[in-house]
Amino acid sequence: MFESLQERLGSILNGLTGRGALSEADVSAALREVRRALIEADVALDVVRSFTDRVKQKAVGAEVLKSVKPGQMVVKIVHDELVEMLGSEGETIDLNAPAPVVLMMVGLQGSGKTTTTGKIAKRLTERQGKKVLMASLDTRRPAAQEQLRQIGEQIDVATLPIVPSQTPVDIAKRAVQAAKLGGHDVVILDTAGRTHIDEPLMVEMADIKKSANPHEILLVADSLTGQDAVNLATNFNERVGITGLVLTRMDGDGRGGAALSMRAVTGQPIKLIGVGEKMDALEEFHPKRIADRILG
Ligand code: GDP
Repeated sequence: MFESLQERLGSILNGLTGRGALSEADVSAALREVRRALIEADVALDVVRSFTDRVKQKAVGAEVLKSVKPGQMVVKIVHDELVEMLGSEGETIDLNAPAPVVLMMVGLQGSGKTTTTGKIAKRLTERQGKKVLMASLDTRRPAAQEQLRQIGEQIDVATLPIVPSQTPVDIAKRAVQAAKLGGHDVVILDTAGRTHIDEPLMVEMADIKKSANPHEILLVADSLTGQDAVNLATNFNERVGITGLVLTRMDGDGRGGAALSMRAVTGQPIKLIGVGEKMDALEEFHPKRIADRILG
């Protein structure tokens, strides 16, 4: 992820730091290149525009241009604005609610929802000592509930027993009830996906939300789908309301646009990133680390 952006920005910014004095025109020319590089990395257009405007505003002042190392100051401004665009540090899943805390996972089919449900359950169990119950609400694909059951077995986390012919809302209610009775701290609801957003999916999500009262609604989105992931997040946020995002396949060789635009476009934080297929391949999202990596 980010490799080509890293290369492009690296050479543009090296061009700036390599010289002594800088004129306003030099900075503007470099920022035009930065803008092009971000657009090619599939960052949303509005986000690119406001990013470069902000950098320009800060970078063309006399204070920067007349400083001893103007190029390095411009690079620092780019870095800081990149961090700002990515969101704040230390976003994590919020479990600050009476038990059982309900987490609702939403997203399209194939985005990594079920895998991420398992990864989060494992993390909460191992790192925070939580007693977790997972439940698949996917009644459309018969294999889906079985897939979650197998993951539960693999990571040694309880799953709600499968009862055929229940509706997603029935299963959600049963899961919360079972968690209350079983003394679970957290219930993770793995909802059904579709190949694309449609009205029945949104209605189903709204119904589940109403009956399970989730404390977090986490959208799982495939970072490799770039702008589509951003549009998806916007849609889910408007229709269902999300409290955060998990971007999967950050181990892939995507251009990075989704990760870079998500926060600015949706206003929702990226809380976790998926970095592989294994159950441990889940990491916190650190804006500063990513900005460091992109700028080398
Ligand atoms: P769902 O339909 O949204 O529940 O998607 P699944 O959880 O079944 O995941 C679909 C595929 O994506 C599976 O083969 C997962 O192993 C894979 N996958 C999920 N998250 C990641 C990730 O972060 N990186 C990689 N490389 N693969 C992932």
